[in-house]
Amino acid sequence: MLGKPLSESKIITCHLGNGSSIAAIKGGKSVETSMGFTPLEGLLMGTRSGNLDPAVVTFIMEKEKLSVDQINDYLNQKSGVLGISGVSSDFRDIEAAASQGNSRAQLALDMFAYVVKHYIGAYATVLNGADAIVFTAGLGENSASMREVIIRDLNYLGAEIDPEKNKVHGQQADVSKDGAACRVLVIPTNEELMIAQETMAIVSCSFTLSKGGDFCAS
Ligand code: AMP
Repeated sequence: MLGKPLSESKIITCHLGNGSSIAAIKGGKSVETSMGFTPLEGLLMGTRSGNLDPAVVTFIMEKEKLSVDQINDYLNQKSGVLGISGVSSDFRDIEAAASQGNSRAQLALDMFAYVVKHYIGAYATVLNGADAIVFTAGLGENSASMREVIIRDLNYLGAEIDPEKNKVHGQQADVSKDGAACRVLVIPTNEELMIAQETMAIVSCSFTLSKGGDFCAS
């Protein structure tokens, strides 16, 4: 889609769904990801908080007299856009509520787009520019309005969306303006293929080891 070899490309992928993360990919290898020890780090998600000041955790535990299990449940199941909007973890419900004037739903959408933008800026610095920003997963593939808000004001990177091309849902497309230096792409997620490939690699490796072969580093 970029007309250049993967080995020479700099790509920022935005996996935006119920769980969300961003990766900086240099020459086909992921060199940064917004996730940490668990998927809780990074972006605000459907029900996960994403990044917080660590002091917030002990402050709330003490104030609300919460156990470790309860705070874990709050951070993973009751936070994110669900907690902020008070409406739902489903972005379709939140977009509908925001369009009817629900200010908490609008705040959740604004915060989500802001955090994604924040990471795109950071990863463009990590990569020293970007050839493409990729949107994938339920929200990334289907919400033209979220893509539009995130890419707005990223013209310093050379990324600009064509509103007509951006009307796609769930199908592979280049939605950038003609001539934009940083392409904006929609590419449907294929997690099943990745799981199959990784499983195949592990199974082939164990088979090699069981036959007395060398350790299989890949
Ligand atoms: P995933 O985790 O990749 O299955 O993505 C699920 C999320 O994508 C849910 O929050 C959905 O609301 C969101 N989503 C799916 N379709 C749309 C759509 N047409 N507009 C906005 N959000 C959508």
